[in-house]
Amino acid sequence: MIPDVLVIGGGNAALCAALMAREAGASVLMLEAAPRQWRGGNSGHTRNLRCMHDAPQDVLTDAYPEEEYWQDLLKVTGGQTNEALARLAIRASGNCRDWMCRHGVHFQPSLSGTLHLSRTNAFFMGGGKALVNAYYRSAERLGVAIRYDAAVDRIEIKRGRFVAAWVGAERITAKACVVAAGGFESNREWLRVAWGQNERGEWPADNFLIRGTRYNRGVLLKELLQAGADAIGDATQAHMVAIDARAPLYDGGICTRIDCVSLGVVVNRDGQRFYDEGEDFWPKRYAIWGRLVAQQAGQLAYAIIDAKAAGRFMPPVFPGVRADSLTELARKLGLKVDRFMRTLNDYNAACQIGHFDHTVLDDCRTSGLTPAKTHWARTIDTAPFFAYALKPGVTFTYLGLKTDASSAVHFDGKPSENLFVAGEMMAGNVLGKGYTAGVGMAIGTAFGRIAGTQAAQAAR
Ligand SMILES: Cc1cc2nc3c(=O)[nH]c(=O)nc-3n(C[C@H](O)[C@H](O)[C@H](O)COP(=O)(O)OP(=O)(O)OC[C@H]3O[C@@H](n4cnc5c(N)ncnc54)[C@H](O)[C@@H]3O)c2cc1C
Repeated sequence: MIPDVLVIGGGNAALCAALMAREAGASVLMLEAAPRQWRGGNSGHTRNLRCMHDAPQDVLTDAYPEEEYWQDLLKVTGGQTNEALARLAIRASGNCRDWMCRHGVHFQPSLSGTLHLSRTNAFFMGGGKALVNAYYRSAERLGVAIRYDAAVDRIEIKRGRFVAAWVGAERITAKACVVAAGGFESNREWLRVAWGQNERGEWPADNFLIRGTRYNRGVLLKELLQAGADAIGDATQAHMVAIDARAPLYDGGICTRIDCVSLGVVVNRDGQRFYDEGEDFWPKRYAIWGRLVAQQAGQLAYAIIDAKAAGRFMPPVFPGVRADSLTELARKLGLKVDRFMRTLNDYNAACQIGHFDHTVLDDCRTSGLTPAKTHWARTIDTAPFFAYALKPGVTFTYLGLKTDASSAVHFDGKPSENLFVAGEMMAGNVLGKGYTAGVGMAIGTAFGRIAGTQAAQAAR
């Protein structure tokens, strides 16, 4: 039987689309590239959703009005955002949680150690894996047909209309289609081409780790761009975090994050600092550090802290390199001791006495140092000292398909009548660059739900 709506993908955006299309009365087939045990894409790694709200709500404290949310987004994207679509996602984040709960998602207050998020972000009880499992259960109950190990490798488009998708030699037709198959972050060849070769002759992408699923290879994105779909964003823009250099190549998830950057200093392989570690609160800055490390030689850097910082950040899975003196630490890291010590001595000498408070933008800063450390600058002088090697960890890429408030894929500026897009595949419409925690799931939920509704309507 030909389904009304074909949903390609198996993460949050695809599930939201499938559930909404089914609720609207459409028959739905969902194709997930991953085997069942790896289903859910990057969504399975998530923890929270950034939500606008005008007053305290169950797990959310205080208020986070639309305007403040928008200003936060404007700031992190440097204006590379579509205001109408951004506001649409923001407003939807204020009223989607009842629907999510109806499909089995539970929320909990923000975890201790995740700084400053209790006001802005609602945490999923059991994390993204529990959210994804709840949606799959609900989808099965509602009669959504789900196929695993079903990677779509080709898509047929005729004059901007979806015709069929191919899984190997099998051709699958449907009246309408939602593509929600993530970015291309797991396609290492594509990343290599996008990032190119640097002035040192390195191919930086060869040293990137992928924080999430190995199944987001951008096959559909490439297919659709080749079929003439309008693009949004830049292939080199991605959400990139500095993660533990010992993390696995795929699926390391959030536990590979190293969250002590703002409490210490970060040096590169030459023992030099290269950016203000205390520029802003960590949730607003963690996503720029992957790119900063990617620009360093060998795509490697080291976060250095002393005993005063220990216990003040989410503990990494693996212990850091520990030493009783800074010179010993430099030796253990294989760094030139004199260079490293010059950097640390200069930094320590530049730290101004202030009132240290990691919960506010405090007045502990350096003076006369380049680059400055503008908050939480305390001398690194108390043994034991710790270091964590950092590598760039790609979360998701921003190159995507251009869309509008109906989530239709555009061809030559015209919206398709029966092809819709959601999640990472179109997040670049809202996030031209930068990131603020929890907005990925806000975009995926808003546009996934719209895409599902629109596809059901188109199928009718
Ligand atoms: C470690 C980590 C932590 C994160 N934490 C958060 C957070 O707390 N809050 C937040 O808002 N965002 C977070 N994000 C970002 C968030 O994961 C994404 O914004 C969001 O999950 C995107 O949803 P999606 O459905 O578009 O993609 P995904 O969830 O990645 O789903 C894509 C799906 O498409 C499938 N697929 C790919 N290619 C094909 C194909 N050819 N055929 C069929 N299926 C295919 C994949 O198998 C996968 O199931 C995090 C990401 C990572 C990696």
